[in-house]
Amino acid sequence: MQVVDKGLILRETPYKEADVMLSILTESGGKLSVLARGAKRKGSRVTAAIQLFTYSEFSMYESGGRYTLNEAEPIELFYGIREDIVKLSLASYVAEVLEQAADEETIDPELLRLGLNSFYAISKTDIPLKKIKAVFELKVASLSGYSPNLFFCGFCNKNEKLMMFDIQNGSVVCDECASRYHTKIDPTVIDAMRFVISADIKHIFSFKINDKSMDTLSEIADSYLKTHFGRNFKTNVFYKSLL
Ligand SMILES: [Zn+2]
Repeated sequence: MQVVDKGLILRETPYKEADVMLSILTESGGKLSVLARGAKRKGSRVTAAIQLFTYSEFSMYESGGRYTLNEAEPIELFYGIREDIVKLSLASYVAEVLEQAADEETIDPELLRLGLNSFYAISKTDIPLKKIKAVFELKVASLSGYSPNLFFCGFCNKNEKLMMFDIQNGSVVCDECASRYHTKIDPTVIDAMRFVISADIKHIFSFKINDKSMDTLSEIADSYLKTHFGRNFKTNVFYKSLL
């Protein structure tokens, strides 16, 4: 069966001699493993379209749940990602997280939009990478079912004097229930988190935050994702080693 779909290349793995196995987050088919035969041969017509982080249109052949690539046309190459190693390593982290967050054949257009918007922000805007990373981490966790509770204390349900954040339980904590296991959080950080969780993906980076609150947000988002996805991503460790 012939299938045409658009999608984002999250991973490319060499496969046999000149073949490449692609992991693609598609618009209508969820995450797909697609074999690109002869893609590494000189003069292959699909080389540009199957580069990592590229958004392309694919024409594929599906048989028994296996996909083989016929043709591919790039829609957006996100060239700016390759401008420097820090951007490249952040994009690698985004791709690795998306690959874990996406289910095989579960269609999740929001996850794809988050990937596209994050790559766009890294590639074509001057939004600080620290902000892009934190926003991406919070939103991807939330889309994966780990939305934090940001309105009531996770222990007593009180909705005032919320001064701490409990990463393990994904909840704000009031002054009376606070303990040394929690991270101190100020109202600006809570507001920023509420904004990211509820905003449409188109606007998720459109909020103002000072440097100090950004640092807190960044620390929380980093360990929040790590805790709830149950792993420390290699690409994140590498990204942080460059800072
Ligand atoms: Zn409380």
